[in-house]
Amino acid sequence: MEKQDYDVVIAGAGASGLAAAIAAARAGASVLVLEKNHVPGRKLLSTGSGKCNFSNLRVRPADYRAGGPAFLKRTFSALPPAEVHEFFDGLGLLRAEKDGGRLFPRSMKAQDVQGVLLNELEALKVPVLTLTEVLAIRPDKAGFAVEAAKVAPVWVKNAPAGEKRIYRAGRVVLAAGGAAYPQIGGSDKGCGLLQRLGHTVSALSPALVPLRVKEPLVKELDGVRLDAALALKAGGKTLAAAEGEILFTAYGVSGPAVLDLSRAALAALAGGPVRLEADFFGDYTAKAFREFLLARAAAFAGRPFRHFATGLLNEKLMRAAAWLAGIDWNAPAGPNLEVLAGTLKCFSLEVTGSLGFQDAMVSAGGGSCAEIDAATFASKKVKGLYVTGELLDIDGGSGGFNLHFAWTSGLLAGRHAAGKTAVS
Ligand SMILES: Cc1cc2nc3c(=O)[nH]c(=O)nc-3n(C[C@H](O)[C@H](O)[C@H](O)COP(=O)(O)OP(=O)(O)OC[C@H]3O[C@@H](n4cnc5c(N)ncnc54)[C@H](O)[C@@H]3O)c2cc1C
Repeated sequence: MEKQDYDVVIAGAGASGLAAAIAAARAGASVLVLEKNHVPGRKLLSTGSGKCNFSNLRVRPADYRAGGPAFLKRTFSALPPAEVHEFFDGLGLLRAEKDGGRLFPRSMKAQDVQGVLLNELEALKVPVLTLTEVLAIRPDKAGFAVEAAKVAPVWVKNAPAGEKRIYRAGRVVLAAGGAAYPQIGGSDKGCGLLQRLGHTVSALSPALVPLRVKEPLVKELDGVRLDAALALKAGGKTLAAAEGEILFTAYGVSGPAVLDLSRAALAALAGGPVRLEADFFGDYTAKAFREFLLARAAAFAGRPFRHFATGLLNEKLMRAAAWLAGIDWNAPAGPNLEVLAGTLKCFSLEVTGSLGFQDAMVSAGGGSCAEIDAATFASKKVKGLYVTGELLDIDGGSGGFNLHFAWTSGLLAGRHAAGKTAVS
């Protein structure tokens, strides 16, 4: 039998690849990590707006789309979420909980998450070859021949092809991620590798992505950020709802609550018009809110509407709502308050589409979970192959769920890939 260079070769040094490398090396395997970016864990640095919302205290299968709850139920029994948190405790990462369960490094610096992972790999003496792209993974009698080439950093365009090399591995963990944020290395190349290994791969589409809306009015609201209760409506039905921050932009809306609804919005668009309704006073019933506005108008009797509006809600938004309700900003408050109450309780926008992968947090679609063992992340089609993270057809909501799945799948894959038995 041909000699292997490494027990385990890992393609991709993102969240799941780094976790897999640590787990495999701790289990005693010789490990090599190949990464096409100039730095391992590059995407981690951009997560959570540089703070890295690396997990959540309340991870449940229901927090994810695709894959199927049964798949994730099995995954989270094989590696309970608390054990992933303990993994990071063990690496020396102090954590802080924010906004009902979201976990961040206590320093609120994403580089600390990347740092503890890289420190551990250094201590375990695991080599990470950067600017090295995996081009092909070929199963053979001894395991796998992994063909890789030296590449230029992502910002260098049209660089000549670099030197190629074959690495021999007993097992391979394919941890190449999805297509989100191509500007920092996201690509569908991992899907191509997986497909060429005989796996079923569904088309990738942007998920957790800002939405475009029809109303030109949003341009005036660019930069306004506030909490709201959001409902997604189509054909007279509420398709999904979310509460949290909405951010108005020149093209539409973003913010965690919008991102959480984006997948459902894009899916529904195929069937007809979709509206996003924002309730800025979800803590009032419609009746109580009308009475509140009438009482406020009485208190501001004879004074311009702008006095009534100041302190109620963001000024740009109040100006827009007043315009929609036909209220003169400088005239006395009073007329059309019923319409204004309706507008502030149901600020309705027509969704026309979304931004692309450049602005999406994750990509939906990818490797079919039916062909992956949910407890080990071993391929059911190719012996010795493991597939992790966003490359699989599983995506979560915002709140640390996507990174949590990346760590979980990586740790399980690394642990199981470390089995020293040669692949025959
Ligand atoms: C801006 C942004 C913010 C985010 N914030 C959060 C957050 O706060 N919380 C959260 O839970 N999730 C967040 N996510 C999502 C999360 O980062 C991903 O779901 C997660 O990183 C996926 O892990 P992964 O290991 O599957 O892929 P990645 O982390 O993307 O890693 C894949 C790695 O493989 C490398 N690679 C790809 N192809 C090859 C190849 N052929 N050869 C060698 N290397 C290759 C890539 O360069 C990359 O380094 C965010 C995503 C983005 C884009």
